[in-house]
Amino acid sequence: MTDDPLANVFDDVVRRNPGEPEFHQAVSEVLTSIGPVLAKHPELARQRTIERICEPERQIIFRVPWVDDRGEIRINRGFRVEFNSALGPYKGGLRFHPSVNSGIVKFLGFEQTFKNALTGMPLGGGKGGADFDPKGRSDDEIMRFCQSLMTELYRHIGHYTDVPAGDIGVGTREIGYLFGQYKRITNRYESGALTGKGVDWGGALVRTEATGYGLALFAQEMLRVRNEALEGKTCVVSGSGNVAIYAIEKIHQLGGRVVACSDSTGYVHDPEGIDLDLLKSVKLDQRARMELYAAERGLVHASNNGSIWEIPCDVAFPCATQNELTLADARVLVDNGVSAVAEGANMPTSPDAIDLLMDAGVAFGPGKAANAGGVATSALEMQQNASRDAWSFEHTEARLTAIMKSIHDTCYAASEKYAKPGNYVAGANIVGFLRVSRAMVALGLI
Ligand code: GLU
Repeated sequence: MTDDPLANVFDDVVRRNPGEPEFHQAVSEVLTSIGPVLAKHPELARQRTIERICEPERQIIFRVPWVDDRGEIRINRGFRVEFNSALGPYKGGLRFHPSVNSGIVKFLGFEQTFKNALTGMPLGGGKGGADFDPKGRSDDEIMRFCQSLMTELYRHIGHYTDVPAGDIGVGTREIGYLFGQYKRITNRYESGALTGKGVDWGGALVRTEATGYGLALFAQEMLRVRNEALEGKTCVVSGSGNVAIYAIEKIHQLGGRVVACSDSTGYVHDPEGIDLDLLKSVKLDQRARMELYAAERGLVHASNNGSIWEIPCDVAFPCATQNELTLADARVLVDNGVSAVAEGANMPTSPDAIDLLMDAGVAFGPGKAANAGGVATSALEMQQNASRDAWSFEHTEARLTAIMKSIHDTCYAASEKYAKPGNYVAGANIVGFLRVSRAMVALGLI
């Protein structure tokens, strides 16, 4: 025990959640931000809201047995961490990736709680997934896996309880198989039980594009504060999944030029600007690797030879996965004169890299604010489902744009009030913490 109550909270989290470094990292980032808030609001400290927020309300771990195309039985582990429901039903994606374990799901659920609070929509926080590797699996295998996962998950979710969506490895195809099995087991066409649905069966226009679009809009707002804009800027986007692809689309619409993107096999430098139609065809239609994109464009595919962040750029968008942008990468970005970094993935920048970027005066947009457009549009999907309505693309995109601006402005205002103006890490953590804590206090001891 020390005299510093927040250090004690952290020690407790580490002791109670051994072997979960990503969860410790996510908690630590929040704890280092909220000291000034607790000093101003001792009632929140007395109510031990931060200790309660660090403990998930419920954690579910289950077996997912399925049969592969060769007739072999396979066993995976499924997870759902229902982190916090003070502001609304648990809400957050499902991730299918071999790296998924309790610590990863907990870090994602913890982040999601703050992110969802920042959207200003009635959403609690949760996350889930499985240590299943969809790479190379046939459509039938994916369907059987999703059906088996939902055969357990269905009893824990529902439109007033917990509303999963996609994340890495889970897109419209998987949500379709999951929703089909949920409908079959429950005998209810309960559209609001899952988001990220196809637009023909209850999904919302713009949901697919929302995380990437929102990310570019958030970066635009950060640049605006500095009297700059994305127009004419050279950008690098890591990843080539749903977030990266639609971030590239919106950056191009706003007049920026994205000159590189990547996947787990390496990156491609395309100095004339990424050919988005080709990228969509390679990654979304053919589910192929970046090598194919490079071959089609006559470019070199740097198969994990060095780092994508060595390519000089004005704005960097890490959109692949956690801790992909390291201290060494941050140094190179600063040396090359980067002016902003906006996180499309969840926690893609390591803590020492964030410190270096912010010390160098780079505008830094943390994922829980910058990538909140996806889950915010999930909330818009839930609204449409509840009213049995379907909005136009333009109307939905206008709502997303307003939400991203409001998230930016709220985080900026909190950074001015409690930290250094423009410290969006502090701003996002503080706004998220205040919203969740106040609701928890209002609802009694929960
Ligand atoms: N997985 C996304 C995220 O990290 C979206 C979650 C959702 O729409 O529920 O925010």
